[in-house]
Amino acid sequence: MSDIQSIVIVGGGTAGWLAAAFLQRTLSATRPTPLPITLIESPQIGTIGVGEATVPTLRATMQALGLPESTLFTAADATLKNGIRFNGWRKGGTAAEDSYDHPFDMPLPFNGYPATVHWLNLMQRGMLQPPMAEACTVQTRLYDGNQSPKLMHSPDYQAPVSYGYHLDAVKLATLLQQTAIERGVQHVQGNVAQVHRGPAGIESVELDDGRRFAASFFVDCSGFQSLLLQKTLDVPWESFSDWLPCDRAVAFPVAYADENAPLRSYTTSTAQDAGWTWEIDLQSRSGTGYVYASRFCSDDEAVATLQRHNAGRTALAEPRLLRMRVGHAARAWEQNCLALGLAGGFIEPLESTGIYLIEWVLQLFVDHIAPAGDSTVCRDRLNRAVGDVYEELRDFIVAHYALSQRRDTPFWRTCTDPASMPPRLAELLQLWDAKLPTPTDLDKRLSLFGPANWTYILAGMHRLPSRGIGLAAHIAPEVSLKAMEHVRSVRQMASQQSPTLRDFVRKLRGAV
Ligand code: FAD
Repeated sequence: MSDIQSIVIVGGGTAGWLAAAFLQRTLSATRPTPLPITLIESPQIGTIGVGEATVPTLRATMQALGLPESTLFTAADATLKNGIRFNGWRKGGTAAEDSYDHPFDMPLPFNGYPATVHWLNLMQRGMLQPPMAEACTVQTRLYDGNQSPKLMHSPDYQAPVSYGYHLDAVKLATLLQQTAIERGVQHVQGNVAQVHRGPAGIESVELDDGRRFAASFFVDCSGFQSLLLQKTLDVPWESFSDWLPCDRAVAFPVAYADENAPLRSYTTSTAQDAGWTWEIDLQSRSGTGYVYASRFCSDDEAVATLQRHNAGRTALAEPRLLRMRVGHAARAWEQNCLALGLAGGFIEPLESTGIYLIEWVLQLFVDHIAPAGDSTVCRDRLNRAVGDVYEELRDFIVAHYALSQRRDTPFWRTCTDPASMPPRLAELLQLWDAKLPTPTDLDKRLSLFGPANWTYILAGMHRLPSRGIGLAAHIAPEVSLKAMEHVRSVRQMASQQSPTLRDFVRKLRGAV
């Protein structure tokens, strides 16, 4: 693999165009002549066209591509995201006390301990009540004021707190397409009808008009059908459907009441009878969808649920029904082919991990193309890491369901059945009944979700250590009270400084 001479990418969704732009940028940098990269996409088979919420890693990826942040606001309808708000996941219904936040920021430190330790110290002494994220982080204050994580004059890709984007996935793919093509990627429109295989892997792909494209390396970005990796190289699929029953989604955008309507600077995820709905505020519209399990809910019921959820708002398009295949290919990289995006794996978008996984695998791949030595060892290592990260993310997502107290529908009874929990997760939850999550609990910790992220979910679902607070037991309650006071004052300061998201976006667009 040290000797990639040319690349053909099949698929022109977010995965395909991100791969084209990223590989062009990274692999051509050290070569005397640019690496020939060709991207083939079908004009007939559309892209999935969803994927509107991101995590903070996209900022680094956009920077690595050399794109100014303003392009996202002008070309991809982007807004800013402080994190996610989960409604109704613990008990169902709309009670405010059944709502919790998962912000991107870490709990503030005070006197050598994260605020979460101080919070738990006070909670267990009966001196404080949930919610935790509100008491321990700055960022959730910005949720409540619909405020931007960036200040008006924050430099590109920077802010006082961490942040991601809400954006139009189709427009993001178009932005990446323009960037890749301007930089020399060849764009071919056509349907791949046949894939030719040889002893070293894929030899060429043939379009239905007879054109044939050979390369030394292929990237499969063909979406759920995984034309190259699975259909041609026969790499098996490892399904997560035993643990994550949601296999469909319906989506449609809705209009804002008026042009001054507040923009929520967080993704909203609301538990429903057979899954959950999302709401994602972009500049020009709000994206909404319902992720559901077809075993427990028909497509018609799903559409009706989403329409009910959006009652009073004007739909801007007909509902789009999508099928999802949850799991991952046993090996992301086989012979001379790497699968990215839906072709390589998919976990339901509860924590916005789709685009993140594309970025993550791309970076790993570029890091593992051996300039010298044995390439097999690099490929095996990448495959192991990708498999591990999928399992880690699966457990994180499953925990959102498994910790629920809901038993009111067949879906929730299934999701909360202890028998339907991966053993690794069952062990972690047992551990966290005894102590707060700390870094050594997570054996590999490959993904971006660490102890603080787990703590937000556990605390939000009221699943905290029943006894014993470890290190916190040695902290005097007066110190922990001061910690809470410190967080409150930083929250207030942040709220005074931050513009509303609506004002931020308006000013930015006016200025460009
Ligand atoms: P696709 O968009 O399906 O693209 C496949 C491409 O392959 C198309 O260009 C198609 O033309 C081409 N193709 C297929 N067959 C052929 C052929 N025979 N010949 C030539 N070309 C072919 N991710 C997030 O990060 N955040 C989110 O909030 C989020 N929400 C999601 C919600 C839902 C309901 C779903 C299903 C996914 C969501 N995702 C999200 C994931 C995200 O949408 C995908 O990771 C991302 O769009 C990548 O898709 P893709 O490019 O792999 O596949």
